[in-house]
Amino acid sequence: MKKRILVTGGAGFVGSHLCEALLKKGHEVFCLDNFFTGQKKNILHLLDDPYFELIRHDITMPFFIEADEIYNLACPASPIHYQYNGIKTIKTSVMGAINMLGLAKRLNAKVLQASTSEVYGDPEIHPQPEHYWGNVNPIGPRACYDEGKRCAEALFVNYHRQNHVKIKIARIFNTYGPRMHPNDGRVVSNFIVQALNGEDITIFGDGEQTRSFCYVDDMVRALIGLMETPDEVTGPMNLGNPGEFTMLQLAELVLKLTGSSSKITFLPLPQDDPMQRQPDITLARKTIAWEPHTHLEEGLKHTIQYFKNILNF
Ligand code: NAD
Ligand code: UDP
Repeated sequence: MKKRILVTGGAGFVGSHLCEALLKKGHEVFCLDNFFTGQKKNILHLLDDPYFELIRHDITMPFFIEADEIYNLACPASPIHYQYNGIKTIKTSVMGAINMLGLAKRLNAKVLQASTSEVYGDPEIHPQPEHYWGNVNPIGPRACYDEGKRCAEALFVNYHRQNHVKIKIARIFNTYGPRMHPNDGRVVSNFIVQALNGEDITIFGDGEQTRSFCYVDDMVRALIGLMETPDEVTGPMNLGNPGEFTMLQLAELVLKLTGSSSKITFLPLPQDDPMQRQPDITLARKTIAWEPHTHLEEGLKHTIQYFKNILNF
């Protein structure tokens, strides 16, 4: 059945892939974005599709449209961007959630929240299962993002309990792929752009901290899978690739795949930078029969090719 689907943050990295996948499935897509970190060129190729509509709007303001499903992705995701204006980041997470939950309540629509592994902070349990409450500094530099997303989760479960809104909470772990912004500051885009430009690869700290990287196509498949679950499935559900790598391993892999002769340089570790991160995806495996298929090496090859194209190599 053709559905009308609102994607907030639809011109961003993950959002643009999601819009594309939903259109391919035959749905009508409303892409809402204020272009803070998203780019029009991410969705240019969709503009001619009569079932695609682009709306410039800021999610902190109320918004009304007729839709069957809402994917709420609007929020800067890279530490540099979300710390640029911390108050705005909190408003985007909290007021954005209130506006989208209010809309879902009024429409009796399903609403999916793009939450994050950052709700676990610097985790003391490894890998992280959904029942872990996390270790977050509420007043540190990452708090605007972490606590904003935690508050959004609290809003989602309360709208569900009090008003029976059909919610889905996805806890997304580090995701990468084509259409990441070259100046976005996240580790995968930074290392690839540095390697291609022959600049030093900047490792923060000693490079022994770990992350688990999920390729964007796998993530989009999981988000749609979660949205399609029966109403009693609300999450939170971890979505990510359990393959765990140190930042040194990532740097070495990027150097190998780009054939770059860039040197590695070590810079101070930012405050509250989590030391380890790996999703426990037992719940996603059981509930939506989801498994990420793309190996880091393969995903990096696609991502490197994308950056070569946009940087004219
Ligand atoms: P992104 O920065 O590329 O996309 C976010 C989009 O939201 C951008 O297009 C931006 O312009 C838009 N936006 C920001 N504030 C807005 C506002 N007030 N009103 C309307 N639009 C606004 O980031 P992404 O990696 O695509 O992340 C998408 C979502 O997934 C975010 O909510 C993020 O927190 C979540 N997430 C991503 C990752 C990841 O590794 N990529 C990990 C965990 C969670
Ligand atoms: N990082 C790094 N060099 C960079 C950018 C990031 O070593 O140029 C590190 C960062 O300190 C963190 C990891 O890579 O330990 C992942 O950072 P990213 O900003 O991509 O995501 P997050 O910290 O939100 O997981």
